[in-house]
Amino acid sequence: MIPAFLSLALGAAAALTALPALAQEVNVYSYRQPELIAPLVDAFTEETGIAVNVAHLDKGLVERLKAEGERSPADLVFTVDISRLSAVVEAGLTQPVTSDTLTENVPAIYRDPDGHWYGLTTRARVVYASKERVPESAVTTYEDLANPKWEGRVCTRSGLHPYNVALTAAVLHHHGAEGTKAWLEGLKSNLARKPQGNDRAQVKAIWAGECDIALGNTYYMGKMLADEEQKAWADAVRIVFPEFEDGGTHVNISGVALTKSAPNRENAVKLMEFLTSPKAQEIYAEANYEYPIAPGTEPADLVASWGDFTADDVNLMSLAGNRPEALKLTEEVDFDG
Ligand code: FE
Repeated sequence: MIPAFLSLALGAAAALTALPALAQEVNVYSYRQPELIAPLVDAFTEETGIAVNVAHLDKGLVERLKAEGERSPADLVFTVDISRLSAVVEAGLTQPVTSDTLTENVPAIYRDPDGHWYGLTTRARVVYASKERVPESAVTTYEDLANPKWEGRVCTRSGLHPYNVALTAAVLHHHGAEGTKAWLEGLKSNLARKPQGNDRAQVKAIWAGECDIALGNTYYMGKMLADEEQKAWADAVRIVFPEFEDGGTHVNISGVALTKSAPNRENAVKLMEFLTSPKAQEIYAEANYEYPIAPGTEPADLVASWGDFTADDVNLMSLAGNRPEALKLTEEVDFDG
C-alpha cells in the first residue's frame, strides 16, 4: 500500500519516474518539536524525493521502540540531551553508522566513538546573572557557584533534571567524586530557595528579585526574548559563560541515532548526512537558538550576540558514563531537599 502522505509528498515526480515507492521514505521518532524539524525535512524531501514522516513524542520513546521491536517503522530517533541519546543506545535499540560525511561534519567529541549517535547542535549550560545586582565578571567558573560569597543568591531547577545531572557529570569529570560532592553541597547552601520550576522560572525569579544568579541553557534566552511576557525576564539578565577551572563551558547536544530495526536504512543515513551538513546545521540551530557544530559553521546573529565561549572538550560519552554517579551524589547531598 502506498501511504497517502507519500503520494502527496512526491506528487507527479514519483508517478513520472515510477520509483519503487516503498523504498522512498524515512520515518522519524522525535522528542523535538515538529516546527524545529519541518523546514529541514521539507528541504531534504525536495532535494532527494524521499518523504520524511515525523512522529512527535513527548515521552516514552524508548518504551515504544522496545514494544514495537523489529516491526518498528522508526528509522531515526531525534532527541536532545546525551542522557536521552545514551538511554536509547543502552537499551540496545540503535545500530552503528559509519560515514565519511558524518565524521567530517560532526566533531569527535559530539558523536559516539562507535557511531551509535551523532550530535547536530549544541546548547551551553550557563549562568544567567542579574544585570542590576551582579557586576560583570563576578562569575567566571562553575566552581565559583559553590563559593560562599553567593550564599542565598542562586536559583536552579531540580538537581535531578537531566540538564543538571549532565552538568554534575561534567563536574565529576573535572573534580572526581569528593570534589563533586563538595561542589553540590556548596551550591546547595548558596540556594535562595529549594530547586523548583524550569530554567526560565529561574530567570523570572532573578527578575522578581528572589535571586541574583541562576543556571540555565542558552537557548532559553532566545525563547524568552520572543515571548511577550517573558521578554522582561530576559532583559533583567545577561548570559555568562562559566568555564571549568581546567576546562571549558559545559555543553549538551541535540542528536540523531539510527534504530536497530530501521526498515529504510539507506534513506535514513542519507537524512543523517543531510542534517549534519553545515547549512542544515545552521538552519536547525537557528530554529531553537542553538549552536551548529560542523567546522566553519556560525550561530545566528542573536545567539552570537550572547558572547563567545570555549566548549569543554570532554567527549559527551564520558559524561553519559558519569550519569549514575552524578545522580547518586545529587541524592546523597539531598540537593532538592
Ligand atoms: Fe530545554
